[in-house]
Amino acid sequence: MTNIYNFEDFNSFDFFLTIELIFISLFLLALGSFSSSLIYRLSPNFYKFKKNIFTSRSFCPKCKSNLSPLELIPIVSYLFQFAKCRSCKSKISFYYFFNECLFLFVGLWVFFTFGKTIYSLIIISIFFIYLILIVLDYKYFYLPFSLNISLVFIGFFSNYFYFVFIDNNYFLIFDNPLMFSLYGFILGYFSLWLINYIYKILYKNDGIGGGDFILYGGLGSIFGPFSLSIILLFAAILGCVLYFLKKDSSSKHIPLGSCLIIGSILYFFIKKNELLENILVI
Ligand SMILES: [Zn+2]
Repeated sequence: MTNIYNFEDFNSFDFFLTIELIFISLFLLALGSFSSSLIYRLSPNFYKFKKNIFTSRSFCPKCKSNLSPLELIPIVSYLFQFAKCRSCKSKISFYYFFNECLFLFVGLWVFFTFGKTIYSLIIISIFFIYLILIVLDYKYFYLPFSLNISLVFIGFFSNYFYFVFIDNNYFLIFDNPLMFSLYGFILGYFSLWLINYIYKILYKNDGIGGGDFILYGGLGSIFGPFSLSIILLFAAILGCVLYFLKKDSSSKHIPLGSCLIIGSILYFFIKKNELLENILVI
């Protein structure tokens, strides 16, 4: 059965018309811009502005003036305004520009590799959520429930209907694709919950945030139950590196969610490129 790991990559844009590529690029830039705006609006500081997350127009955080439609055009507006707000001339973070470019490159790579398939749409959706979660967790240790649960939903949807991440070996053991995501979710959620439970008995406070349980469950629902130990291993290594790199010893919190997500990306590439084929049986 075809899945994302054994899929014969296109590695070409031959199947796209030029006009399609232009529209896809514009769409990706808009998505990048939208992700920056969501990161900003979902951050814990946003409530200070007393604006509605969904309905308020985009505005400059310094002078609070609303952005005109022209100022909302990705990349172009940043370059033509020389990275400054038109009203108050305060500097616009380079991050917005970076995010739009990142989306464009990652998105084009996805279409280049997987062509016009469901795989492309699923990978881009996952990447969109990943990016927002990584930044929010890294900056604020905050993993919004709405995004975590979207990952769980994407996992179930892609595996149940399209077997996207289900390796053929899995069907030697189980015959139902729904179980792949379900076992993955349950194992992910409860393993972290259990670690936290033991930690709480020993140290009398939470060691892991509740958002991490659902996130890890979501990764399980996408990549399946057998991926979880490897993802956690990568996350732990990354977490240790971050811990030692942090200079400020008073706030040595580790953004476990960000580490788990990067761990899952590493897992995906290792499996896709069969790098640890002898070790990763399933
Ligand atoms: Zn301004």
